[in-house]
Amino acid sequence: MKKYNTIIFDLDGTLAVTKSPLTDEMGQLVAQLTQKINVVIITGGRFEQIKKQVIDRLGENVVRSNFYVLPTTGSSMVAYDSKTKEWNYVYRHELTNEQKERIINGIKQALEQASFSINPDDVFENQFEDRGSQITFSALGQYQKPEIKIVWDPEQKKRQELLSYMNHLEDEFALNLGGSTSIDVTLKGIDKEYGINEFYKTTALQIKDGLFVGDKIFPGGNDYPAIKTGIDYRETSGPEETMEIIHEVLQSYD
Ligand SMILES: [Mg+2]
Repeated sequence: MKKYNTIIFDLDGTLAVTKSPLTDEMGQLVAQLTQKINVVIITGGRFEQIKKQVIDRLGENVVRSNFYVLPTTGSSMVAYDSKTKEWNYVYRHELTNEQKERIINGIKQALEQASFSINPDDVFENQFEDRGSQITFSALGQYQKPEIKIVWDPEQKKRQELLSYMNHLEDEFALNLGGSTSIDVTLKGIDKEYGINEFYKTTALQIKDGLFVGDKIFPGGNDYPAIKTGIDYRETSGPEETMEIIHEVLQSYD
């Protein structure tokens, strides 16, 4: 394998099971990576969620100054300040209240038009999550159990149908499938392609030395925009395969 200086990971379905924390083994491996190269997480979740799922799970040997987070699909960037020992926003782009209302109404209308319905008893807490720069619709609620979420729309048919009723939002917004039951809506032009390009504009690193790893690298998948940057990439079937990829990256440094 080529010697990369940066590895950019999707989170859910790539480093961890949807919304679950990294396993101890994965936490150790990612920490080991930060000793050799920069590690970047790009995902639909907010920083607070990523902190719980990833940062708090990293082994003791993590080099925080080599670790970057691109929350809400890369519409913001968080880096570690070694002097203050704090995680700080480098940039942040938020939606207006009118934009948020337009998105939520658009999704509600699509749900009314859909050929399927969602049993309210299957929904665990809020379906709509306001992530500042992103509205995330989670069909079964954001805190539904992963094993229930995973069987709801395994072939993305339900969400593709919803998307087909939401074309009218595409003048202003980008719509992408995330996780196993969710649709992420951000301002148009803000997707993983944008997030990765902003990251490379902000840092002194070069995209030719980067590797992207994600589980949804297909048209409509939320990792697909990432590869439009031209970055080298590896598709993963899940955390198990991601660990193999990390071992390969580490071996390239032996
Ligand atoms: Mg994913």
